[in-house]
Amino acid sequence: MANLQSFTEWIADYASVVSEQADYLTDLDRAIGDADHGSNMNRGMVKAAELAGAEEFSAIDAYLKKVGMSLVSNVGGASGPLYGTFFLRMAGAFADVAEAGAAEVGAGLRAGVEGILARGKAETGDKTMYDAWSPALDAFDEAVGAGSDLAGALRAAADAAARGRDATKDLIARKGRASYLGERSRGHIDPGATSSTLLIESAARSLA
Ligand code: ADP
Ligand code: MG
Repeated sequence: MANLQSFTEWIADYASVVSEQADYLTDLDRAIGDADHGSNMNRGMVKAAELAGAEEFSAIDAYLKKVGMSLVSNVGGASGPLYGTFFLRMAGAFADVAEAGAAEVGAGLRAGVEGILARGKAETGDKTMYDAWSPALDAFDEAVGAGSDLAGALRAAADAAARGRDATKDLIARKGRASYLGERSRGHIDPGATSSTLLIESAARSLA
């Protein structure tokens, strides 16, 4: 079961991974965007990770809400509002939840991704972060259906996200800055699909 501490560990773990991978994320964005995805995410995650030390949180939903608000204010670009909305919507799924198992975490991730879609209007195959999230959510649900616990479901989701991320390489971008490149966006992995995969991999380490 994941409790408030698991969620603060998730954010801390992701902040450290984003800091390690910031140059790589920026390189991916240099190829099909404006070379700021790593620095955007790093700036936001440093601030988000500081929240847990600066304030006493009493519930998962209150904590995730602050994380979302912090990302909206500090990340910028297209990804700031998208990741911010992800955590704000996820927070909404954790009202009155103190201990989250596979069912609660699955519902939370799905609510978050619905927020990404509501904001960004991406569809499958548009070469965005949704191309990592969509297979991840399906794999999560499939694993739960087959009897997996939270750890197994998150592991399956992370593996599926990584495959979805890799598959963005052959796609033509239809949303965001990369879409301006048209056919020339093909041949490059999407930065947001990469940072989203890192977030799910981090969840598999921290939440289960
Ligand atoms: P910007 O494009 O404003 O510089 P970032 O570089 O931080 O913002 O983030 C780019 C990433 O945002 C892309 O790689 C893509 O995954 C994601 N993205 C952009 N537009 C959308 C959208 N409409 N829906 C989902 N994800 C999107
Ligand atoms: Mg960018």
